[in-house]
Amino acid sequence: MALSEQMNFTEEEIQTEADRLFTKLKGAGWDHSDCEIIAPLTLEINQIKKKKNAVILAHSYVTPDIIFGVSDYSGDSLGLSNEAAKTSADIIVFSGVVFMAETAKILSPDKTVLIPSKEAGCSLADAITAEDMRQLRDQYPGIPIVAYVNTTAEVKAEADVCVTSANVERIVEKLEGDTIVFVPDKNMGKYLSRTSSKKVITYDGTCIVHDNIQPDSLDIQRNRFGEDLVILAHSECPPDILDRVDVVEGTTGMQRYIIEHPEKKKIMLATECGLADRFSVEFPDREFIGSCVMCPYMKKNELRNILQVLRDPRPDQIINLDEEIRVKAKRSLDKMFELGS
Ligand code: SF4
Repeated sequence: MALSEQMNFTEEEIQTEADRLFTKLKGAGWDHSDCEIIAPLTLEINQIKKKKNAVILAHSYVTPDIIFGVSDYSGDSLGLSNEAAKTSADIIVFSGVVFMAETAKILSPDKTVLIPSKEAGCSLADAITAEDMRQLRDQYPGIPIVAYVNTTAEVKAEADVCVTSANVERIVEKLEGDTIVFVPDKNMGKYLSRTSSKKVITYDGTCIVHDNIQPDSLDIQRNRFGEDLVILAHSECPPDILDRVDVVEGTTGMQRYIIEHPEKKKIMLATECGLADRFSVEFPDREFIGSCVMCPYMKKNELRNILQVLRDPRPDQIINLDEEIRVKAKRSLDKMFELGS
């Protein structure tokens, strides 16, 4: 039996749900008939969520049917970490990637944290291990090791402090000494070297999405729209991209910029392509041009596996952490909250 066939909804319920979905998803180019197809799934997910006292936290890079159809909160890593820490729900379904679900478990150990697909990895999180961190510690004694939040729990446990793209510059400035080791994102480390007063020792990880945005794709849009276009880029992009753009920010910073600049009508987003869909819904008076580079890991999240994990999670979909590692990793996150506020 198909997942969506396990509950019976009336035609009227499905149409009402499709209407609700369409008010949002039309901004991302969806038809009403698309919304009718997914309506039984979103109805069932929202029912089970209520019954089990669950919340769905969705990263901005997952598809708009998840963000606007079933999520309780959508945002970037920092926003999702904050939500995970304060939710009163018994179950957190993390519609994002595995390191984010681990972060939720680090912050909320008493909650059941579920991930729809264990294959939702991250090239940055895969770039460095706890053993690599211990070697860095030996190589650079006394120098703070700053770990981007896109790392495993084991790596966070070896770090002095975690950061997100939203708070990295503020936190690095507050650390003692004139040098830091920044892991694992080489591009963000290089960006920090330019903007921070500290000497930054970088590592060799990259995000396969941001590292693959092509300078030509920006030049083409710039030539096409000239002064009418503003280009915002994520700080995970390489220097040849950042040199071409008007604003460098994390996801939340981009959102803030758009709110604060209602006069900017044509906006190119040099980041994961899905963000253009989300912003098209949230800012219908603007025109967004995406990067056309998608994160294959984020796209492992679908309504069907969210329904399945809520209904009957497999053992591999339940996040469990070694308690000693969790406690050590939490110290790095707590330090981030302390210094980042
Ligand atoms: S967009 Fe990049 S950093 Fe984010 S999950 Fe995908 S690979 Fe990792």
